Amino acid sequence: MSSTTTPRVLDGTAIAAEIKSELVSKVAEAKHRGYTPGLAVILVGENPASQLYVKSKVKTCAELGIYSEMHTPHESVTTDQLLALVQSLNERNEIDGILIQLPLPAHVDTELLLEAVIPEKDVDGFHPINAGRLLSGAPSEKVLAPCTPAGIMEMLHRSNIPISGQRAVVIGRSNIVGKPIAAMLINASATVTVCHSRTRNLPEIVREADIVVAAIGRPGFVTPDMVRPGATLVDVGINRITDPAEFNRFFANSPSRQESFAKRGSTVVGDIDPAAFALSSAYTPVPGGVGALTIAMLMSNTVKAAAMRRS
Ligand code: NAD
Repeated sequence: MSSTTTPRVLDGTAIAAEIKSELVSKVAEAKHRGYTPGLAVILVGENPASQLYVKSKVKTCAELGIYSEMHTPHESVTTDQLLALVQSLNERNEIDGILIQLPLPAHVDTELLLEAVIPEKDVDGFHPINAGRLLSGAPSEKVLAPCTPAGIMEMLHRSNIPISGQRAVVIGRSNIVGKPIAAMLINASATVTVCHSRTRNLPEIVREADIVVAAIGRPGFVTPDMVRPGATLVDVGINRITDPAEFNRFFANSPSRQESFAKRGSTVVGDIDPAAFALSSAYTPVPGGVGALTIAMLMSNTVKAAAMRRS
């Protein structure tokens, strides 16, 4: 069975560029009013993936005119020392957002630290106060919401995908993606079901969805037989694959992927089997879909936090 129309690609890179260009004007406006939005990033130790993420966050701040500073304590830093750092950043007026890059070393109490960031500067939206505000349906301009699900909502809104009254199925129940996107979809009047590792008859439930959000962390978990033709598919997963057999399962017919796989020995695939995209009315590609929006939303939260603290 296939959809009668060609699926629309929801281009995260283009939408992120649009959001960033709007932010340039908002930052200029803030400067005109006498302040510069500022982000402090805490990166503990030398995890190469974290270093890469932080570098691109700092670079994006520079592009948009947002002030940023990096704090890079040694791997052996204690929870108390980190709490003291967060406290000092909480108190500084020129810092509007505090981002603690995860994961932290195992000896550090991550939960305690995330709760130490004052909610007004919690640009990752992980503080229980912000999670509670999101759940209670506070207007989005008054909530600092987690960046990845906020990016998904921006993408759906800006692409005019209907949400109100639609049946949405979220696969995954993490605090970073699954739970907050479920709350946001409910707030936007979708009928939401959340599936997870203990869900019975998962394919049957997913087949009922007008909108599928997959945030599981398993390559190609959502197969074409689980997709209702015409559904919107939102793929949050970022899974690096290196096994040629697994590669061929997804990309046997894609010459461009084959070329890059041969060169690099790896590629990324989402939680949705790319073969399922053909059945959809719209889908987010991997890469270039949801992932492209996360940093733009972090910037947006920083600008929003700066304005909210001064209003
Ligand atoms: P997580 O590991 O915290 O949670 C995974 C969830 O999937 C859990 O709730 C679990 O119940 C569910 N799950 C696992 N196996 C399952 C199964 N067999 N059937 C049904 N549900 C199952 O993951 P996360 O942090 O939410 O991330 C999910 C994926 O999204 C990962 O690939 C991650 O890399 C990606 N991610 C992308 C971005 C982005 O910016 N695009 C941001 C965060 C996470």
